[in-house]
Amino acid sequence: MTNLSPQPPSFLSKKFQRFLIVCNAKLSRRLVFLIFLSIIAIEIIILIPSLRNKEKELLNQVELISDTKIQLVTVNFTSFSAMDILDLLMAKTNNQYGVKGAGIYEIKSQNRVNGFGEINISQSFLNEIIDEKIQYRKKYNDSYELGYIINFNNQEYLLIINYDISSHGRELWLYFLRITILIIIISIFVTLATFMALGPNIINPILRLREDLIKAGKYLSNASPECPEFSSLNYPYHNELQDVIITFIQMYEQVKQGILAQKNSELQLQELNKQLETRVKERTEELEQINQHLAYQAYHDELTDLGNRALLFERLNKLIKNDNKNRFFALLFLDLDNFKIVNDSLGHSTGDILLQKVAERFRKFSNYLTVRLGGDEFAICLDKISNLSEAVDIAKNIIAGFKQPFIINNQTVFSNISIGITTNENNYDNVGQMIRDSDVAMYQAKTKGQGNYAIFTTEMHQAITKTMELDRELRRVINNLDSQENQTEFELFYQPIIDIKSNKIISFEALIRWHHPEWGFVSPAHFIPRTEETGLILPLGSWIFRQACNQMKQWLNDFADFAPKNISINVSSFQFNDVNLYQNLLTTINLAQLEGKNVKIEITESSLINQMDIVKAILLKFKEHQITISLDDFGTGYSSLSYLHDLPFDTIKIDQSFVKNINDSQESEKIVQTIISLAHNLERNVIAEGVETEKDLDKLKIMGCDFAQGYFFSKPVNSISATALIQKFNLGK
Ligand code: C2E
Ligand code: CA
Ligand code: CA
Repeated sequence: MTNLSPQPPSFLSKKFQRFLIVCNAKLSRRLVFLIFLSIIAIEIIILIPSLRNKEKELLNQVELISDTKIQLVTVNFTSFSAMDILDLLMAKTNNQYGVKGAGIYEIKSQNRVNGFGEINISQSFLNEIIDEKIQYRKKYNDSYELGYIINFNNQEYLLIINYDISSHGRELWLYFLRITILIIIISIFVTLATFMALGPNIINPILRLREDLIKAGKYLSNASPECPEFSSLNYPYHNELQDVIITFIQMYEQVKQGILAQKNSELQLQELNKQLETRVKERTEELEQINQHLAYQAYHDELTDLGNRALLFERLNKLIKNDNKNRFFALLFLDLDNFKIVNDSLGHSTGDILLQKVAERFRKFSNYLTVRLGGDEFAICLDKISNLSEAVDIAKNIIAGFKQPFIINNQTVFSNISIGITTNENNYDNVGQMIRDSDVAMYQAKTKGQGNYAIFTTEMHQAITKTMELDRELRRVINNLDSQENQTEFELFYQPIIDIKSNKIISFEALIRWHHPEWGFVSPAHFIPRTEETGLILPLGSWIFRQACNQMKQWLNDFADFAPKNISINVSSFQFNDVNLYQNLLTTINLAQLEGKNVKIEITESSLINQMDIVKAILLKFKEHQITISLDDFGTGYSSLSYLHDLPFDTIKIDQSFVKNINDSQESEKIVQTIISLAHNLERNVIAEGVETEKDLDKLKIMGCDFAQGYFFSKPVNSISATALIQKFNLGK
């Protein structure tokens, strides 16, 4: 297509355009060249021999003239007269060729006798001619020389005549021109005739076919579905080419169908490719998402969507490695204070929700990297602060933020948080050390009670290692309580509570003892907080219920009316987070075949903090079953009077710190007296704890205190000794 000769300008008429195309066609050029060649050939074949003939004719003519002249000479001259002969030769006859020069040579002497004009004949050549006695004829450019030997008086002379034939050359050229023009004209006529003959039948159809081919090419290359109009088909004089044109149209149709089919399949292929591309793209995106998700998962906690341990390690590692001493950073280790209780009592799903809510709360309180280390342990990396007090402020803020309860499934859940703080000023080499120390500080914070923080010091480390060991040991013993109900390292001791008026044991307070195989006796004041912290208080508390109730049942069996009225069981504030607390105690009472009135629970004021409503609800349920309630350690805590009024306590236990000083400090005396009056006004009775001397007892008696408990009567003792105490006090044995 691109090799087509250029199209003639479109402003020309169609006919003329076609004419130009024909002229421009190779065929035409070859034809013209052929004509040129044939002209030359014709000239060579026809003209040159005819020219030669013409010349021969001329020479014959000249020779004839010469012969005539020589005859005249020989006839007219009997004696030799050179001048006269020359005159005669010079005389023009009826021909146009004049004598240009002439010469007479005496053959014997070979001298020129006479002559005129130029005769270009050399002496040596003349000699040769005379010796040979030949007729001499020589043709020059514009002259013709003839030589004759003539006889005068037995004398031989060479007569040379030079004819001027220059006019004859012109004649020849004119002749040549005439013939050439004639041939050219004939050629043009022949060519035109040929074209005219070929035009309508061959050239025009071919040109139309050419146009159609161009059209078809254009349409096919665009693969337009529309079939172009082919002028070839409408042209009437195409008989000779009809087959070719029809074949062309058929081929065009086939090619078009082929191209359309190809285009169709290309489109399909493109569509398939597109689909494939989108599939690949989608799949790649999916994979990318999965990758991102995996990468995200690798560094995030699934439950809370906070970072995870790995993320913290990475961040801290960077900080520690780039630690140029100028940059300050701190790590907070956070631990929920009673998560295990929530988790065990409300179920893991509630525990999970609590953790999620805790995470939400963290987000509220800091923009720093917060991660969940596992369980209820979290960490916050404070890398944009400049000193310790900023870290402490943040910790305090978080602790304050956790004073607000969480609402989970319409239940109010309190969860304080303890925070350990460490900073890079402790020169850490690795992340593990830093996390460990913050953990140690957190442990330390827990020893101060719920919702506290502590800053790591090197001295702390040892103490905390002990705490961790204690936790481990507690876990070991408590986790085996079920299988070793009575063969455990724990034992319940009982301390009598005496009715001051009758001096009878009205109750025993159950107090736990731990005989550790290596450590010996471990104080409940030391390990109970750890069981609370670790949540182990729940299984331990259940065991205490069982032991105490069974013991009470035993005494009732043994002493009937002389038995103490009830057994006082300490219930930790943490146990109130156990939704099963009430049911658990009730079941234990039933299993021990006791009545509710045989059980008294002791709770401290700290149980009420933050969870007043929950505790109140549970206490009311206890009351429904005649279970009585003591408010323990009264006077040490917040001692809100509204507690006394609002909550269904039966008894108030005045803390031993007041009782001990009752005889030494007027203030203590006043406090004790006030508490007793208040309790009586509210129709509650009063137990004085820590009664160590008779003097104390006497004073309490005067003050109108109802009951007393303390070393004065008995230290907490094992069940056997306690039984002996009942016999002593209640049976007078
Ligand atoms: P608490 O409930 O205030 O128990 C009274 C504590 O005072 C007991 O200490 C008892 O031995 C001690 N005590 C009694 N009379 C006197 C006295 O005259 N002088 C002195 N100095 N102390 C006296 P213990 O047994 O070491 O218990 C300490 C704390 O551990 C208890 O204080 C209680 O809060 C907790 N605890 C003990 N046993 C249990 C238990 O079974 N369950 C729970 N939840 N806590 C318990
Ligand atoms: Ca108590
Ligand atoms: Ca107490």
